[in-house]
Amino acid sequence: MAGGEHEPVVVIGAGAVGICCALSLLEAGEHVLLIDRDDPGGGASSGNAGIISPWSVSPMSVPGLWRNIPRWLLKPAGPLVVAPSYALKVAPWIVKFLKQGSVNRARKISDSLATLNHSNVELYRRHLAGTGAEHLIVDSYYVHAYRQANKASLQALEYQLRVEKGGDLDVIGTSELTKLEPALSSEFKAAVLIKGQARARSPGEICQILAQKFAAHGGEIVKELVSAIVPHGDGMWRIETPAKSIMASRVVLAAGAWSAQLLEPLGLSVPLEAERGYHVEFSNPGVTLNHSVMDVDLKCVASSMTTGLRVAGTSEFAGLDKPANAKRIAILTRQAQRILPDLNTTQVEQWMGVRPSTPDSLPFLGQVPGQKGLFAAFGHSHYGLMMAPRTGGLIADIMTGRQPNIDLDPYRFDRFQLEDRGA
Ligand SMILES: Cc1cc2nc3c(=O)[nH]c(=O)nc-3n(C[C@H](O)[C@H](O)[C@H](O)COP(=O)(O)OP(=O)(O)OC[C@H]3O[C@@H](n4cnc5c(N)ncnc54)[C@H](O)[C@@H]3O)c2cc1C
Repeated sequence: MAGGEHEPVVVIGAGAVGICCALSLLEAGEHVLLIDRDDPGGGASSGNAGIISPWSVSPMSVPGLWRNIPRWLLKPAGPLVVAPSYALKVAPWIVKFLKQGSVNRARKISDSLATLNHSNVELYRRHLAGTGAEHLIVDSYYVHAYRQANKASLQALEYQLRVEKGGDLDVIGTSELTKLEPALSSEFKAAVLIKGQARARSPGEICQILAQKFAAHGGEIVKELVSAIVPHGDGMWRIETPAKSIMASRVVLAAGAWSAQLLEPLGLSVPLEAERGYHVEFSNPGVTLNHSVMDVDLKCVASSMTTGLRVAGTSEFAGLDKPANAKRIAILTRQAQRILPDLNTTQVEQWMGVRPSTPDSLPFLGQVPGQKGLFAAFGHSHYGLMMAPRTGGLIADIMTGRQPNIDLDPYRFDRFQLEDRGA
């Protein structure tokens, strides 16, 4: 792996997606400059639930979901929050989101999620090999825990999709669940086990280690806020920061939920929402989990990290800039205690981050139409940690003229415009 001599490819955003793009471009022989206003891995990529699964192939918008929305919104501790001041702003996105919720669409989207999640565990292990941080990815089941045993059924579409893609799933009852995860509350009466996946024991540290690897192999990291991406003529782009302007003919926009803001001055608009999520992490928890565990009723995920026991969840629509909502932290803390009755909650760290969410849960990938040299790599919604390594490989293929052997249409930048026009 070595940076080429020619002018750099600039990657904007050093979250999991930007870092993986930068690493794959470097491996392909490019000179790469990775720019972020913060240290690498400081955005959504640090505080997530750490699930890395080839079998996360169910979109967020599924048939029948709309029926739950009023109940979730009305319950103060429900998993969905729309800030009243933001309701009108987010309404068009929600309409687009709900439009994706047919069985046919879910099946199609599932294929495209599977493509980006293919071999994700192996790809992370390959990136981490030789860094000394291989232990940060461990094999895991995904335990979907249910309070009502009859609800743990593989007939549900989200499980059927996984089975159809080759996932190994099982349903277990109380005694097996207790053996698997002794710390879980006895409220849980059954679980669906999704096997053959992994969990990150510190998603933020993985990003930092991979950024260090990138730098050690000749990649350049610049800590600056990008204020604008401006076409400069002669096929060049000027990336403006408070300190300097950087010129490049090829730019990858991987700024997560902030990507749409940087495109607006170019007259480009995409349905990208800031879907805010939270975590609480208990540094002296007194209990451990062996796997990633989702409380299906409360819609949050618990996992043991290197730094403590983390419980993550919540979908809050309130825009990019609103401060974190302290009520959601209190709710997650109570939920964590309900999931793990012996949890010691005395030392708790709290976090809010922003998922870059699209109506169909798929990212925008590839050349931005009409903007030669500008490439999109954002919008990974609920699955950005796990889809990052394949995204990086695909972006490097596209930018270095190696035609990827997959259909890129589902990730097109203009797919929603085409849908609106009925094309
Ligand atoms: C609670 C929660 C749980 C989740 N659980 C999982 C999970 O288990 N598994 C999974 O795969 N995904 C999960 N996700 C989703 C996942 O975290 C995101 O999809 C992913 O982190 C997005 O990565 P990214 O690199 O696109 O964005 P980010 O990680 O947000 O990175 C974007 C970067 O761009 C930088 N940036 C933005 N604007 C500018 C600018 N103008 N100038 C310079 N830099 C800029 C930011 O500083 C940031 O570092 C979860 C998310 C949340 C909130």
